[in-house]
Amino acid sequence: MAQILDGKELSKKVKDGVKVKVDKLKEKGINPKLAVIMVGNNSASSVYVKNKSKACENAGIDFEEFFLPEETTEDELVELIEKLNQDKLVHGILLQSPVPKHININRAFETISPSKDVDGFNAINVGNLTIGRDCFVSCTPWGVMRMLEEYNIDVTGKTAVVIGRSNIVGKPMLQCLLSKDATVTICHSKTKDLEEVVSRADIVIAAIGKPNFVTGKMIKDGAVVIDVGINRLENGKLCGDVNYEEAFPKASYITPVPGGVGPMTVAMLLENVVKAAEEKT
Ligand code: NDP
Repeated sequence: MAQILDGKELSKKVKDGVKVKVDKLKEKGINPKLAVIMVGNNSASSVYVKNKSKACENAGIDFEEFFLPEETTEDELVELIEKLNQDKLVHGILLQSPVPKHININRAFETISPSKDVDGFNAINVGNLTIGRDCFVSCTPWGVMRMLEEYNIDVTGKTAVVIGRSNIVGKPMLQCLLSKDATVTICHSKTKDLEEVVSRADIVIAAIGKPNFVTGKMIKDGAVVIDVGINRLENGKLCGDVNYEEAFPKASYITPVPGGVGPMTVAMLLENVVKAAEEKT
């Protein structure tokens, strides 16, 4: 039976650490500040932004929201980001995805100054992560790594399988695990014999966006199972990408959904904002 990796509890610890750092910065006259941009109406994004705003408020981090209408042009968005890049009172800039289809989100991410890119999506930060330099790391994989560390789960030499190759989760997850000497395989929608690949893993990270995709029989006895997925079922309940009931008896450690990776993502965002503010001192 698995031990639960309690992201809710652990995120409180991370946030307490952030608050201490924020207080120290304030003593030096620096008020860490995050600017969040949202373009168009998206109910899920609104919830995420609200959560981030609340978390910032609790940690003493200033928070400014920019809600832009659906018809905002790419140039107008880029102009706002450039203005925030210049604003000395803003330490972190976050562009909430998705954005409307007429906007090239990659151009917007590239416009965010690498030193304020607290989501770690800018190509400079992605490149620095790849070559092992200090950088802002995408908050979700970074939160997973913190979780593994806090629970003393050593990934060195272990076989890790990441399912999903998105730029925001799967690919940086691969880099983070590799940097800690895991042997990493990444699976995606074209992977052949995915079940077989996953069933060999000591560590399984599911970031697909499909409810209950990872079944119990894919899990090796004693594997560590990290479920990044957040899926809303028809009955309104949230569930992950892993069939929790099936995986629980086989895994050594497992993250619940909700209460696993999600809270860690927000906590790591706060850490990144503090890091950005500290680097300006
Ligand atoms: P994307 O949709 O960008 O990527 C999904 C990945 O899953 C793709 O690489 C895709 O492969 C792969 N995939 C889809 N279907 C299959 C399949 N049948 N077999 C194997 N691989 C498949 O999603 P994200 O990475 O943005 O998010 C993944 C999940 O994580 C979502 O549920 C999202 O809500 C959640 N999430 C949770 C966060 C948190 O804080 N907990 C933060 C961010 C995301 P291909 O590339 O070939 O299309």
